[in-house]
Amino acid sequence: MAHTLITGYPRIGENRELKKALEAYWAGETAIADVKKTSAELRKAHWLFQKEAGIDFISVNDFSWYDGMLDTCVMLGAIPQRFRAISDADERYFAMARGNAASVAMSMTKWFNTNYHYIVPELDGSTAFKADSSKIIAEYKEAKALGIDGKINIIGPVTFLGLSKAADGKDAYDYFDKALAVYAQVLRDIAASAGAAVVVQFDEPIFARDPSPKQLELLKKAYAALAAVDGNLKILVTTYFERASEAVDVLAALPVWGIGLDFVHGPKNIDAVGRLNGKMLAAGVVDGRNVWVNDYAHTLALLGDIAKKMPKEQIIVSTSCSLLHTPYSLQKEGDSPIKQWLAFAKEKVGETALLAKAFAGDSSAAVADALKKNAEIIAAKKTSPLITDAAAAKRLASFAANASRAGTFAERNAAQKSALSLPSLPTTTIGSFPQTGELRALRRDVKSGKITLGQYEAGIKKYIDECIAFQEEAGLDVLVHGEPERNDMVEYFGEMLKGFHFTKNAWVQSYGSRCVKPPIIYGDVSRPSAMTVKWISYAQSKTKKVMKGMLTGPVTILNWSFVRNDIPRDIVARQIAASLFDEVNDLQAAGIKIIQVDEAAFKEGYPLRKENIPAYETWAVSAFRLAVSGAKKETQIHSHMCYSDFSDSIHTIEKMDADAITIETARGGNALLKIFKERGYANEIGTGVYDIHSPRVPSKDEFTVQIRSRLDVLERGKMWVNPDCGLKTRRWEEVKPALKNMVDAAKELR
Ligand code: GLN
Ligand code: ZN
Repeated sequence: MAHTLITGYPRIGENRELKKALEAYWAGETAIADVKKTSAELRKAHWLFQKEAGIDFISVNDFSWYDGMLDTCVMLGAIPQRFRAISDADERYFAMARGNAASVAMSMTKWFNTNYHYIVPELDGSTAFKADSSKIIAEYKEAKALGIDGKINIIGPVTFLGLSKAADGKDAYDYFDKALAVYAQVLRDIAASAGAAVVVQFDEPIFARDPSPKQLELLKKAYAALAAVDGNLKILVTTYFERASEAVDVLAALPVWGIGLDFVHGPKNIDAVGRLNGKMLAAGVVDGRNVWVNDYAHTLALLGDIAKKMPKEQIIVSTSCSLLHTPYSLQKEGDSPIKQWLAFAKEKVGETALLAKAFAGDSSAAVADALKKNAEIIAAKKTSPLITDAAAAKRLASFAANASRAGTFAERNAAQKSALSLPSLPTTTIGSFPQTGELRALRRDVKSGKITLGQYEAGIKKYIDECIAFQEEAGLDVLVHGEPERNDMVEYFGEMLKGFHFTKNAWVQSYGSRCVKPPIIYGDVSRPSAMTVKWISYAQSKTKKVMKGMLTGPVTILNWSFVRNDIPRDIVARQIAASLFDEVNDLQAAGIKIIQVDEAAFKEGYPLRKENIPAYETWAVSAFRLAVSGAKKETQIHSHMCYSDFSDSIHTIEKMDADAITIETARGGNALLKIFKERGYANEIGTGVYDIHSPRVPSKDEFTVQIRSRLDVLERGKMWVNPDCGLKTRRWEEVKPALKNMVDAAKELR
């Protein structure tokens, strides 16, 4: 019988129980005891479910109130100075995560190439590095009381420090020895309280990126030391999201018990399995990052290939990474023809168990039946008319591989200058204006049928009217309609495109208590009818100023969705791009002179391995260019990106060739713009001068300082003045004075 392992399980709860418990506690409506009660119930339910499904290695300490990196900070005694005076541990934990009246929260950033955000540890000379194993031991014992010998999950030292920030000009790895001593202490604490043999899974996903020689050396040092800790411990070092072959070679020479590899997102890992040197292999073959039913025949063939290179008894059937990145279960989803093609976390646990049985040669009727059914589903899916749309394929083939706009930037810019007649340092915003309670009620009520479509549209028009009136009064040069009809920049488009499915309850944790419900792209994408023209044209009809049309770009729509895995991602991106091509043409025909194509998520799609970056850049740029290739010379194409560190991707931004890009620079300032100057970036740039993440209203003088300093680096004739990002999360009371001050400062500097 082959063993089974789940790398980690979602924690937020099938009905987002943890989210609700946390938010009620934060709002002061309940006590921490209620959060603890809900947490224990969730852990129990999750453990027992996995046990019943026949999983051998069930995770303990994969649960978290906020984030596993934050938990590891607590475990290591890495509490930033500003929180140390808080004596209550729970209060301190939430202050670190969310800030409090006295201190700003620790920062947050995306976990590798996922949409999950972790808390960034802060280390300095005063960091205590004192072991706190209490959470781990308590959860281990809690599982034990339920009859489960848990596998303990801990984020490994090389990854933890590799993702940490160090103060005082230090490198976080300067604290390696101190941190390692704490990890060893934690293992001793575990050994002392476990009694029986216990598997400790150290997550080291950092080795899915190209490792430095130093990281490999630290890997060796870490696991030589940790494997030497006395006690009945079995050390499993787990990687995911890409191949980790370099790490395999280091670990194979150490007395660790096993290695975890992702064969779904790192197929090249197969080359390393012959070099495992007798270690156990947690073979990640069930996709922890996507929502599709496992193709059993394909996976069993893969396991067979692995078994040709190492002893079969040493293979543990596993998920490719934590199931944290997938929704809970299909049980809550309504009937839909695509449901049979989906597998969420619960179903994936079942798949893991079934695969292990089949791999071990179980010839029972139950297994045979499951394999047969699966093969039928997979075969039917391939030819389903829901998925393949011959017209969409034909249309895509009609575009040249390198479809792009006519005219050089200089030619287009000249045509646009005369078509738009904008002043120098033109002012604009990124698209959305404050999302009011009234607006949310409007969308909710039309969905539930409480109000008519006519009432809804009247409400949206009223919002647009008010938005325009304010922008005219404030004196902005290029206006927007404010995006009142969109609750989300991807969902809005997905709902109108063919090939997208929207779930009822498929929530995935994004950060803390925040969850997202990404759309599922299951079939060929096409655009049955115009998506934005009605609202943008209405808005343009209400003003003599230039109204900017607002679209979400192909790469962002792709990166923020669960994407079908039966065709390459770049084809899906091109299908979306072809749909946007039609939209750009329709907007243009309706008299819209500037169209912004947002690529907020362009950067997070970057592959983890350098070897895969050129291919991504090529297809991502080409999808963007295809989407805007129908734009006439005098139509100005803007793009917006929610960040500003382009040090390693400036050439890609150049190739996108948008007439203007707007980026986030209010906090980072000119340092970030150096690269544009160095490269001699030719197109127009809107550098954010208003930090929209803060409720603060900058004064006119502050804006003047910001804009003036930008002029040190950028050419006046190519510069726009705008906020960092959309204003949907801000309040009108902040936005109105801030934008007025911004416009006044720009006018004066003209
Ligand atoms: N146009 C979008 C908005 O203003 C852009 C959002 C984003 O970049 N995340 O809301
Ligand atoms: Zn943005």
